[in-house]
Amino acid sequence: MNQKSRDPIESLFSEERVFPPPDAFAQAAGLNEARYRELLAEAERDYEGFWAKRAREEIDWITPFARTLNASEAPHYRWFEDGTLNVSANCLDRHIAERGNKPAILFEGEPGDVRVLTYAELLAEVGRFANALRAQGIDKGDRVIIYMPMVPEAVIAMQACARIGAIHSVVFGGFSAESLKGRIEDAQAVAVITADGGHRGGRVIALKTVCDKVLADCPSVRSVIVLQRAGNPIAWQEGRDIWWHDAVAGRDSHCPPVAVDAEHPLYILYTSGSTGQPKGIQHAAAGYLLGTILTMRWVFDIRDDDVFWCTADVGWVTGHSYVAYGPLACGATMVMYEGAPTIPDAGRFWQLCERHRISVFYTAPTAIRALKKLGDEYPRRYRLDRLRLLGTVGEPINPEAWMWFHDVIGQGRCPIVDTWWQTETGVHMIAPIPGVTPLKPGSCTRPLPGIVADVVDGEGRSIDDPNTGGYLVIRRPWPSMLRTIWGDPERYRETYWARFENRFYVSGDGARRDADGYFWVMGRVDDVLKVSGHRLGTMEIESALVAHPLVAEAAVVGRPDEVTGEAICAFVVMRATRPRPEERPAVTETLRRWVADQIGPIAKPAEIRYTDNLPKTRSGKIMRRLLRAVASGQGITEDVSTLENPDIIRQIQDEGAA
Ligand code: ATP
Ligand code: MG
Repeated sequence: MNQKSRDPIESLFSEERVFPPPDAFAQAAGLNEARYRELLAEAERDYEGFWAKRAREEIDWITPFARTLNASEAPHYRWFEDGTLNVSANCLDRHIAERGNKPAILFEGEPGDVRVLTYAELLAEVGRFANALRAQGIDKGDRVIIYMPMVPEAVIAMQACARIGAIHSVVFGGFSAESLKGRIEDAQAVAVITADGGHRGGRVIALKTVCDKVLADCPSVRSVIVLQRAGNPIAWQEGRDIWWHDAVAGRDSHCPPVAVDAEHPLYILYTSGSTGQPKGIQHAAAGYLLGTILTMRWVFDIRDDDVFWCTADVGWVTGHSYVAYGPLACGATMVMYEGAPTIPDAGRFWQLCERHRISVFYTAPTAIRALKKLGDEYPRRYRLDRLRLLGTVGEPINPEAWMWFHDVIGQGRCPIVDTWWQTETGVHMIAPIPGVTPLKPGSCTRPLPGIVADVVDGEGRSIDDPNTGGYLVIRRPWPSMLRTIWGDPERYRETYWARFENRFYVSGDGARRDADGYFWVMGRVDDVLKVSGHRLGTMEIESALVAHPLVAEAAVVGRPDEVTGEAICAFVVMRATRPRPEERPAVTETLRRWVADQIGPIAKPAEIRYTDNLPKTRSGKIMRRLLRAVASGQGITEDVSTLENPDIIRQIQDEGAA
């Protein structure tokens, strides 16, 4: 086989179901077919003009920009660079006249405490806290670590940083002391904002105690601001630690927003680490803000009477774009929930939907699969009739999980926006327009206006053959793109641009396009399996397994095989308990035959291992590289403390030995 034919990824899978937008939805949608076509045509005709127009319409500038795109130091692109603005003023101040008394945040703690913050109240809290940061000597450009539970103060802290031009770096509250330390050091942070503890899964997560394990070794940190949330006992270092309530006591609620350049870094966020060492992704104020606003309108069809709930933690990019910034920049009402979906029982999400009258609900496939496994009786207990739009992000969604979300949660009435994007892209890149785009379960559909996504082969040529997968790339820079990897411009170029000589942004994902131009993400390029000369993505085989009624979740990886090059090894979580050893050969044969029937004999797993759970990152993504090591009999050498469920590794290894 020659080099050329080795690069494409073969597709074995075809999904025939199509769901056009319901008439009622399409008629009421903010972006209709005609307007959508206009936007596409406008971007096609004059790419920079298209973005300049959007930036002038959507952002309140302090100094208007004249220069739209500067590509002189590509791939370090600069957008709207001679303009100045303040992101927090765009999220808060500009709504006060019309929406001062409108709820901005509806918060519910895991123990059930509820708190409502109107736009006017949120602005005052942000102002007070911004003044408190100033009083701690924190200034424009300083880096501030936010290590908090999912409480309104996490958003207040992020907005307060934006208000004074400090650069925040949120670290997910479930991360270990070592991960926290690595991020503090990499960012050279001057302050840490944390809490005594947060409620999660029926326990108190002692955040301040985790900080204390490493802060002695982090000389850059001068102050630690501690929110009192869970009331758990904590240690204290005078002179460095200060309670949040003391820091804000007596402070003015008015803090004038600082003008920053469009390209001023708004934040650094480390990626989730599914594929390796996390990267400090740096985003720029104006372009990022613009992306969050447009996608809130286009993809979430956000309206003044909506109650929007994105379940992501602020520790992930999704919690930045669609909790801390996007909804506020659009003047929306949003829900924040502190805890786990299964406390007190598996109905908590649906109870929240009923109680807060949620109309737009955005979550991850991992949550959907987990809640589906727990049974339909939970959603059936609650009134979900206010829901009008659903969304997913984080991984490809298996058509089976999509159908459940659509039928049981959306009751057949709600479009589902499957949004493909990354920490690096800042906001949605490929996603449906819910009032316009017919949906196909498992496809993120088409690129948004102004986003030039493509699928290319190993030489960088567009692949037009509908059944052939390749590299998912973005051909032109876009405003909300990452600007660099913090402190490591070389790694930025190497990771995202070098593969095709800086010609386009390389996402690292594999995808194919179907005959209608719909994109289907096939998994990570690094995870592609090479079986008997065929290159297969992980997504299709996993989807076939999950479509079997016995199976709740599946992950497939390759292990070296003398005959076939690589053999397919599947890790399967059953809907019920794991089959007993004597039952396994029959179950395995059933599933192997099922995969062969569904997508073809070549995709039949050589081996199936049964487990109670899959190893996942803290954001719920399957860690295939760990499974690959287990499948090939190698030991696991890396730190597994960043896993959501490190204990599962032992079970999976023992299972292999059995
Ligand atoms: P790291 O880059 O450190 O390995 P990560 O890629 O998991 O971490 P994120 O930026 O949070 O970190 O995730 C982006 C990735 O998630 C995408 O590259 C893609 O693989 C996957 N993804 C996100 N949304 C979708 C979606 N709707 N469909 C398919 N895949 C998706
Ligand atoms: Mg990634």
